[in-house]
Amino acid sequence: MTPAPDQPFRALTGMRDVLAPESARRRALVARFAATVELAGYREVQPPLVEELGVFLRMGEATDVVTKEMYDFEDRDGTRVALRPELTAGVVRAFVQHHPTTPWKVWYSGTNFRHERPQRGRYRSFEQVGVEVLGVDDPDLDVEVIALAWASFAAIGLRQVRLLVNSLGEHEDRDRYNEAVRDHFLARRSELGEASLATLKRNPLRLLDSKRPEDAGAVAAAPRIEDFLSPAAAAHFERVQDGLRALEVPFEVAPRLVRGLDYYRRTTFEFVADALDAAQNAIGGGGRYDGLAEDLGGSPTDGIGFALGVDRMLLACDAEAVFPAQDEGVDVFVVDLTGGAAARDLTHELRSAGVAADRRFGGGSMKSQMKSADRSGARFALLVGEDELAAGQVTVRDLRGDAPQSGVARDEVVAEIHRRLGT
Ligand code: AMP
Repeated sequence: MTPAPDQPFRALTGMRDVLAPESARRRALVARFAATVELAGYREVQPPLVEELGVFLRMGEATDVVTKEMYDFEDRDGTRVALRPELTAGVVRAFVQHHPTTPWKVWYSGTNFRHERPQRGRYRSFEQVGVEVLGVDDPDLDVEVIALAWASFAAIGLRQVRLLVNSLGEHEDRDRYNEAVRDHFLARRSELGEASLATLKRNPLRLLDSKRPEDAGAVAAAPRIEDFLSPAAAAHFERVQDGLRALEVPFEVAPRLVRGLDYYRRTTFEFVADALDAAQNAIGGGGRYDGLAEDLGGSPTDGIGFALGVDRMLLACDAEAVFPAQDEGVDVFVVDLTGGAAARDLTHELRSAGVAADRRFGGGSMKSQMKSADRSGARFALLVGEDELAAGQVTVRDLRGDAPQSGVARDEVVAEIHRRLGT
């Protein structure tokens, strides 16, 4: 046996325990999200947490997520695997593997892992909800997908959210634009810092969202994507904007929005929570990724999706004072002064009838058991003392209202509680 540690174990840096009532709030957020997207015909998909490393390398070997942040390791059988840093690649891998009929409209929720430098709103283990649609090349789908993300913010009461949209053009448009951006920054490389020069080498488009003050001049003067869009890409983007206007989803066109992952083409979008500081105000984003299914070994398939950061959505809820955590507690707490058998049986009966019920273990005085009852958040305490036991009764005490306590026949107590709870 390894000896006990000098200090108690703690969760790893950048990873957190989610305790009640926050855990219930997360579950409620996912439930609202699911309800929103299932109204539009999306069904849940649950890909594994771990995939072959190659699945994620398709996200682009020039991205930080892939080069610096992946939890990758050798499996016991020698396979190179990684904990998922996002869900899109795994979902598309599942699409390629199972050949579902298209359009394949799916939603997901789950934990991702990135070895980032932790700070508020940026963790090494974080949760996302999102959707993906495979097999449709229609700008009206882009509108549907973006409108669903918008509706899921509304579903939890978030209001201070801004939608930024852009088009990266077709594959060739993006390549030509990439070249032009590289040439532009190469010509002005004396202005760039060392980190930016490294980015320029790996992924010139990423420089467009550089926040470094010394880059600002070169970024402002950079070529603009709209000058590189093919007529088809421009028409697609027009139709997306028309659709957003028709659905009254407010947006801003953001010509420098390129997003981190390499596989995006045409429509890209991002949601910014204005109630949060700039460091963590990106609460979600997505776009079209035509080409990813092919990269994963499938036939060419159009795809589009988004991922929203659950941790950050909840931070935004805190900042806007909406969607608060609610500690629900139980409905009923049984106080047993006769040895515990009554509490054992009564809680079981109540739970079987769908009433949330709890009790104290190990006995204790009336006073200490009533304290536990108060702490439990229960509406009613059910008291069983020697007198009640002898009379075949239970005393019902209202812990929130001021109704006088009353005796109820033991056989009728479950029905009586249902009546009082209105269930
Ligand atoms: P991405 O997959 O990088 O496009 O991220 C989509 C969303 O997930 C972001 O807008 C964030 O809200 C959230 N997110 C990404 N990385 C993290 C992280 N390390 N910690 C918390 N949330 C994150």
